[in-house]
Amino acid sequence: MCTEAAQAAESYTSFYQQEIQRSCVTVKVMLNVSSTGLVGPQPEDIRPEALWKTPKNPLWQPWSRPESVICFGKEPQDMSKKMLVVSAHGADWCTRAGGTILKYVNAGWEVTVYALTFGEHGESGAYWKDHWGTNVEEVKHCRKTEAQAAAAFMGVKRIEFFDYGDYPLDMGTSRVQDLICRIMDLRPDVILTHWIDDPFNMDHEITGKAVVRAVSACGMRGAIPDTDPHFIPDIFFFETTMPHSEFNHFEIDTYLDIGDVFEKKIQAVKLFAAQPQLVEYYTRCAKNRGVQANDWSRGRRSIQYAEGFKRYVPYLGDCLPVSSLEERFIKEDGYV
Ligand SMILES: [Zn+2]
Repeated sequence: MCTEAAQAAESYTSFYQQEIQRSCVTVKVMLNVSSTGLVGPQPEDIRPEALWKTPKNPLWQPWSRPESVICFGKEPQDMSKKMLVVSAHGADWCTRAGGTILKYVNAGWEVTVYALTFGEHGESGAYWKDHWGTNVEEVKHCRKTEAQAAAAFMGVKRIEFFDYGDYPLDMGTSRVQDLICRIMDLRPDVILTHWIDDPFNMDHEITGKAVVRAVSACGMRGAIPDTDPHFIPDIFFFETTMPHSEFNHFEIDTYLDIGDVFEKKIQAVKLFAAQPQLVEYYTRCAKNRGVQANDWSRGRRSIQYAEGFKRYVPYLGDCLPVSSLEERFIKEDGYV
């Protein structure tokens, strides 16, 4: 081994051993130096797949590392799951994904909601109409109170309001960077947010795109110095403003049967009194999606209400994502 290669090897070894200690994973590193020079450290006694595919982050991999460095990862100590919902306005998270949130809360997940705005200008029409002479701060207070009440009613662990201002919402670089820091700190397993192509409501589109920008950066080592990256493949986009896929290209690839939590969702939606039209609108939406989901069920389950999503990236796993509807198999609905 030439002196230069040996020095480089020593440097590599020291650096990566420090990294491994920091990542809380005990891995023996064996330096592998080929006849042509430095190849890099190799894991000696742990399958790399076991480190990449942690339950908390099944797709994590050290993208910014040399290809041969495959021994970085952190087995989560806390096995509880986290869902983050990023909402443009005060009520969007509840109306479009409230049923799904309830199902995950019931399953023991921690759900956090970020409301980028209160929807004080563009989505508080009834309040403005019924409170002639009011002002923006009063409207914000009303919308915040409503959203907090809905979140508490649903069992959401935390809801945060960023007060960025709506219609138009501006998500500049500094705000995306703030979102990066928050996601890196929270480290959610799943993110729900707006679809990224919604010309009927640009606040929604901008929110979805900001989340994608933030998540993309979170996957890069170095996004925040001395912090492990956190790429979340499981982003699910929820309903657009107008359910017209020919207009906004929102093509659902995931349905959740929310029949068991639908009534509670609607009770939560009713708490947004500044938007009374939401109750009827999202009841109809859930019925429509229920009809579609019921068609795909093909008699395996009678589905009345559903929420639809579009995945950010294709499913990736060790087995096919087979639909599971057997638990509530209904024989008396005429299908079987
Ligand atoms: Zn909205």
